[in-house]
Amino acid sequence: MTAVEDAAGAAFRHCGELAASWGHGEEAPAFWPRYRVRKSPRARRVRFTMSPRDGLVVVVPRRFDVRRIPDLLQTRKAWLERAAGRVEEERKAHESEAPVTLPGRITLPGIGQEWTLDYRATDSPRVTAAERAGNCLVLFGDTRKDGSCRTALGRWLNRKGHEHLEPQLVRLAAERGFALNRVVVKSQRTRWASCSRRGTISLNVRLLFLPEDLARHVLIHELCHTVHMNHSREFRTLLERHDPDCKENRRKLREAWRHLPAWLDSRPGRW
Ligand SMILES: [Zn+2]
Repeated sequence: MTAVEDAAGAAFRHCGELAASWGHGEEAPAFWPRYRVRKSPRARRVRFTMSPRDGLVVVVPRRFDVRRIPDLLQTRKAWLERAAGRVEEERKAHESEAPVTLPGRITLPGIGQEWTLDYRATDSPRVTAAERAGNCLVLFGDTRKDGSCRTALGRWLNRKGHEHLEPQLVRLAAERGFALNRVVVKSQRTRWASCSRRGTISLNVRLLFLPEDLARHVLIHELCHTVHMNHSREFRTLLERHDPDCKENRRKLREAWRHLPAWLDSRPGRW
């Protein structure tokens, strides 16, 4: 499941597309949600995450004075309300879904590809995915094990991400004149992408499941962070110059978890 996340304070070290809030004057929620506090030695600043499973979690640096949390929550009312709405919608959607089955077909609009899956049981305990002619993806091994199949599909997806998302970003950076330092493609549950202070852009392999224009919007957003490491007015002006539909795209992105197939997030462990 997708968690929504927000960072307190204006200076984002990383920007999560799902996370970022530009602060509009929404009304305050009618009640204060309960929250759990998690101390993290690695956290540099306070972060809020909300997910159907864990509810609202406030991640704080180790020495942070937790008595300050209620005041911080006051400043994030609009975000809390939006996050609670999204989590509730997601919870309902998942409840109404049938039990997750392995896919017979995988569509990757981000790169305009559609794959038909073929599961072939062999004696090997490990499941591997191999591409065959005609966009057929064959899984060999102990294909009765759902978890092993999902892990194999995840590894394959990561390969597709490296093959396609990385060059897409490099091309876009060159076209638009952004200086790109490094690109990393990985599987993340909460962020579509992020940009570090050193200019490393991390792309979530799940972008492959988004419509092309929406994936492109995320890439451009992160490229703009190589110039402005915040969501300041200057950042927004730059973003609008490169993506005139950015407001509409941003709205669509809030709902974009719908594009992700259920099997993707129900896999056990990491890939
Ligand atoms: Zn951002």
